[in-house]
Amino acid sequence: MKRISIFGATGSIGQSTIDLIKRDKASYDVIALTGGANIAQLAQDSRDLSADIAITAYEEQLPALRDALSGTGIEVAAGQAALVEAAARPADWIMSAIVGAAGLAPGFEALKHGTSLALANKESLVTAGPLLLAEAAKHKARILPVDSEHSAVFQALVGEQISEVERVIITASGGPFRTWSAEQLKGATLAQACKHPSWDMGQRITIDSASMFNKALEIIETKEYFGLEPEEIEVIVHPGSYIHALVGFKDGALMAHMGVPDMRHAIGYALHWPERRALPVERLDLAKLGSLQFEAPDEVRFPALRLAREVMQTGGLAGAVFNAAKETALDLFIAGQVGFTDMAVMVERVLAQMSPDLGHQDVQITLDMVYQADAEARARVLSLQAGA
Ligand code: NAD
Ligand code: MG
Repeated sequence: MKRISIFGATGSIGQSTIDLIKRDKASYDVIALTGGANIAQLAQDSRDLSADIAITAYEEQLPALRDALSGTGIEVAAGQAALVEAAARPADWIMSAIVGAAGLAPGFEALKHGTSLALANKESLVTAGPLLLAEAAKHKARILPVDSEHSAVFQALVGEQISEVERVIITASGGPFRTWSAEQLKGATLAQACKHPSWDMGQRITIDSASMFNKALEIIETKEYFGLEPEEIEVIVHPGSYIHALVGFKDGALMAHMGVPDMRHAIGYALHWPERRALPVERLDLAKLGSLQFEAPDEVRFPALRLAREVMQTGGLAGAVFNAAKETALDLFIAGQVGFTDMAVMVERVLAQMSPDLGHQDVQITLDMVYQADAEARARVLSLQAGA
């Protein structure tokens, strides 16, 4: 039996992972499931999968979780330290599907114990990519990409040499505002930003897709995970989301990865890797699809893409600052305190304020430095807001 844990089990990726596990319960020994405030879901899945321990990220939810699981023999715990402790428990594979920089610490801990890390949490690579990869190498632990684009590239590279890759093209749906003017974007509402045209995902990544911050994070994630140069990474807008990424080799060949937009494909690939097993995803009917649509991304209406290039240029702690500033600006947008286009303006300002101190190319970056840069970026976004 494969010993597994799911961090962020109650979220969109977590639930898709659980869907696959529930179809083949006998093959898995579930160690830990973690969630946030959705205690009913966390308790239900912990019972159904006979988890050893259920953890809520929030201390105040512990009594509710304890009640919901009383008499089951399932251990309960709460808080960030408990999440890290759970990641240290012996396991073969963990799914890292907490949203935001909060996902970094448990994933990092799992690697220290040689556990394979299925990484949906792109923020880990954006904020601390080199640290994470070094830790994985040190403990001979695998990081398996789960973001659909990165899973696609990973699959297209099977049997290939990364040195023979000329470029990687990741696709973007363009989100709900693909055809909106700059003027219209200023008035975009939360409800409008939450309507993704092709993928069904958690609220935060859905809004990040509308602003293209998601694709910005993914460009950096591609650079970090595959060790590519920024200029080797391209983005193409492809509204249907049927091609997830393409790898271009030095002979000009392009290998595309296609499939219906269903995260259970990338999750299942990471779960069964290096094997492929049957997955309950709809098969793509090309004749029904008829044609594929592409267009160039617009970095003027969607400045997040341009900012990602600046972040890669600066290097060092710029990824941590970029992500944290984005997370805080997103909190403010969700709370109705800033407009849709203000998010990129705030992130750009904070990057400009902090960038003279960010390029630590020659300095050994530590996790503490990442957390400090993260905290400072969050505080700076809030003070911009207070001063506005
Ligand atoms: P979600 O919001 O649906 O779920 C997030 C999970 O994290 C929940 O279980 C929640 O309880 C938990 N969580 C939230 N804040 C936390 C905190 N501070 N500490 C601990 N746990 C916390 O998110 P999602 O859409 O499933 O995305 C999860 C991750 O996967 C993100 O990094 C996202 O970018 C990435 N991802 C998601 C998709 C998708 O289709 N949903 C696709 C590619 C990548
Ligand atoms: Mg993606």
